[in-house]
Amino acid sequence: MAIKKKRVARELLFGDLWEFDPAPETAPAFIADRYGLFINGEFVAPKSKKWIDSISPRDEKKISEIALAGQADVNAAYAAAARAFPAWSKLPGAERGKYLYRLARLLQDRAREFAVAETIDGGKPIREARDFDVPMAAAHFFYHAGWADKLEYAAPGRDLKALGVVGQVIPWNFPLLMLAWKLAPALALGNTVVLKPAETTSVTALKFAELIRDVGLPKGVVNIVTGAGETGAAVVKHPTAAKIAFTGSTGVGKWIQRELAGTGKRLTLELGGKGANIVFEDAAIDQAVEGIINGIFFNQGHVCCAGSRLLVQESIEVEVLRKLKLRMKSLRTGDPLDKNTDIGAINSKRQWERITELVDAGVSEGAEIYQNDCTLPKKGFYFPPTLLCGVTQSHRVVKEEIFGPVLSVLTFRTPDEAVEKANNTAYGLSAGVWTDKGSKYLAVASQLKAGVVWGNSFNKFDPASPFGGFKESGFGREGGRQGLLEYGELV
Ligand code: NAP
Ligand code: MG
Repeated sequence: MAIKKKRVARELLFGDLWEFDPAPETAPAFIADRYGLFINGEFVAPKSKKWIDSISPRDEKKISEIALAGQADVNAAYAAAARAFPAWSKLPGAERGKYLYRLARLLQDRAREFAVAETIDGGKPIREARDFDVPMAAAHFFYHAGWADKLEYAAPGRDLKALGVVGQVIPWNFPLLMLAWKLAPALALGNTVVLKPAETTSVTALKFAELIRDVGLPKGVVNIVTGAGETGAAVVKHPTAAKIAFTGSTGVGKWIQRELAGTGKRLTLELGGKGANIVFEDAAIDQAVEGIINGIFFNQGHVCCAGSRLLVQESIEVEVLRKLKLRMKSLRTGDPLDKNTDIGAINSKRQWERITELVDAGVSEGAEIYQNDCTLPKKGFYFPPTLLCGVTQSHRVVKEEIFGPVLSVLTFRTPDEAVEKANNTAYGLSAGVWTDKGSKYLAVASQLKAGVVWGNSFNKFDPASPFGGFKESGFGREGGRQGLLEYGELV
């Protein structure tokens, strides 16, 4: 009797018998039917006369139309930014800071609307857009507003001069947050900007352009050109750019580096990753399981620093996997606008196909697959949380970035083996170490070739903390004083 009761209680807890009622977010997102390019402080129709549909990955419905900027449009954006540069860069830092504070506050005022728009446009769960993306974006503006009038402390004894017009290209996984990472430090230092959001997630950047207009930022200081890869290439290649800041795939990053070689333009690249999440036998297992879940399933695994390779000590493999599978059962995959959803929609059909292709390849190479048994919405792009066990270092799913809710599981016996396996990757963006011993954490973390190493936590961010990679994860840092220095010249 007691045993039966226990079983029922567990089923209740983990959803086998219980279903949540839908809890849809109903606040309006105020997405316009059509957005022009944001050039010289105004929305303008593209000279290219071309428009592209923007759809929501949650149900594949068209939500808006965005402009496809051609070369003439990118030229106009750079011309506006170049005209704005002299006055903006000469403005006292305290005055530039005021604009950044206003942007941060206005974003906070309209936080709910921006969160809903981000979820509809990109597919991430409303809980994450609301509690992470939008507040963190505002935090980046606040943080850099604070630097604007204290630049002499960023480089004591030296002068920090703005570079000029900066070209910035961002990806689709954290659209508004990546915009904040790029714009805030550039503007604090007195640069002007031409920014290209990703094709599938331009809506919140264009809504942000409304804020830029509303705070009265001088015309031309920020210009936003939408479009696809070709527009991005035009931004990167433009002769007016003094610096290119790119976040995206390693393939495109390599192309950009080749393209910029010999031009004298400054470059920072934030590229892909294949982070190791290392769990030692002395770790607090339940906390580690939460960290593994957060490390790989946050934002559907569309996270460059995701902990996509679990390295678990052999002695606790069985226990960790048992607890992990149990915890995975309680993850809810589905409509990202539902406040109970943990895993929302995959950002695009293309990305869904890439994830599917890689997981299929893993299985055909011999991986043992474990997937949540859940009913996915019929429309939209959805992929269930997935574990791939029984894989080795040579499997594609261990080597290549999947950028989806898919965790590859490896084991190790000794700390040295853990370090060796963790570093056995072309990437070097992030890692996590779970152990009860501070000395073990420090010893392991100092040997890991990763830009950020979390201890008994994962995916923790702060605008004051620099972020960036080693090896094929790119170079340059974003956030903190180091990130600020990337946007200035020391004289
Ligand atoms: P992607 O194809 O490289 O796209 C990134 C951005 O570059 C998009 O705006 C894209 O435009 C544009 N683009 C494409 N081809 C271009 C070209 N030839 N020249 C200039 N711009 C070009 O990457 P993705 O697949 O969208 O994004 C996912 C990747 O970004 C992952 O590998 C992930 O790890 C990485 N990422 C890294 C970080 C980090 O901080 N290290 C953060 C987030 C993401 P369209 O979208 O319009 O094609
Ligand atoms: Mg979209």
